[in-house]
Amino acid sequence: MNVLLTGGTGYIGSHTALVLSQFGHQVTLFDNLSNSKKSVVARIENIIGRSCSFVEGDVCDTALLTATLAEYSIDAVVHFAGLKAVGESSENPIDYYFNNVQGSISLIKAMETQGIRTMVFSSSATVYGSPQQLPLKEEHPTDPANPYGRSKLHIEEMLNDLAQSNQDWRVVCLRYFNPVGAHDSGLIGEQPQGTPNNLMPLITQVAVGQRSELRVFGNDYPTGDGTGVRDYIHVMDLADGHAAALEFLKESSGWHAINLGTGFGHSVLEVIQAFKTVNGCEVPYRFAPRRIGDVPEYYADPGKAGKLLNWSAKRGLDDMCISALKYQNLVEKAS
Ligand code: NAD
Ligand code: UDP
Repeated sequence: MNVLLTGGTGYIGSHTALVLSQFGHQVTLFDNLSNSKKSVVARIENIIGRSCSFVEGDVCDTALLTATLAEYSIDAVVHFAGLKAVGESSENPIDYYFNNVQGSISLIKAMETQGIRTMVFSSSATVYGSPQQLPLKEEHPTDPANPYGRSKLHIEEMLNDLAQSNQDWRVVCLRYFNPVGAHDSGLIGEQPQGTPNNLMPLITQVAVGQRSELRVFGNDYPTGDGTGVRDYIHVMDLADGHAAALEFLKESSGWHAINLGTGFGHSVLEVIQAFKTVNGCEVPYRFAPRRIGDVPEYYADPGKAGKLLNWSAKRGLDDMCISALKYQNLVEKAS
């Protein structure tokens, strides 16, 4: 298939581009480079051993999207493009609704114009809000706690309405848990602009000495060791999930929300310990107050992904920690 990846030079998009290419799909990356670099394209080409099309543009530009869908004879779209910083979304909510929701409307309009009605959408476990039961199943009530999560839920609902209005639409909303790690080559990975918010990029920056210590937010949660528990998933497993979703949509119409997680939670201290052990390095840390808005614990029930997509996560926490540091070392060398 010819697949358009909006946000394709970003962290998850670039890893998915590799997997889809290796699966035999022809990928075209569409990105406005607001949170990624064009050099990622050459790195993807280096790994897959062939060229990869790139279009610089904004998903809010419906005309450019329409032309791109036509020019590259696109059959299906994986829609990653969006803003993703939870804290920033509370400070600039309208930017989040504009970029994420308006961007998705623009994409849907372009796809309708071209008669392309297959989409895999990057959603998030954030749509659940504070868990009422664990593990989180797709039927769990949705109640996102911030504008970022609400923008994801609005898009999911919009896509659901669309699929109900026209039986030709085939949509999978993948609810990602906590993607971490990088491709084995260490050539692509997560490169946050400015100060990272997420745990793994902060750990890698501490490990290479870019930061003096990690702050562990909260050690009095009702969890095994008192620190927050999350379902960390290797980004390559997540990428495999997109290939599986596209296969599933060849045979299935309608709208489907599907968790992509491992089903296992790890505490912050467990992640730090695993990172130190497999990489043979130090990660100095100190305990700090709880971060506002954090929930103590959440992890996925990945059963629906197993059943519908024949997908499950294969890689463990050790692989996530090794590949994350390998990529960080490459970033260090390049800077
Ligand atoms: P990322 O920032 O690395 O990638 C997103 C890409 O989209 C970037 O390359 C950015 O330049 C591009 N982009 C943003 N707005 C755009 C626009 N208007 N037009 C064109 N391109 C645009 O983020 P990521 O971690 O790869 O996340 C990809 C998707 O997955 C996002 O939608 C995000 O909300 C979702 N998601 C991410 C996580 C996570 O922890 N990384 C978790 C759940 C869901
Ligand atoms: N965390 C931490 N220190 C940091 C960043 C994160 O202790 O500097 C903790 C955070 O409180 C949570 C876990 O690490 O328990 C994962 O946080 P992240 O921001 O990566 O993911 P999210 O909270 O969005 O699931």
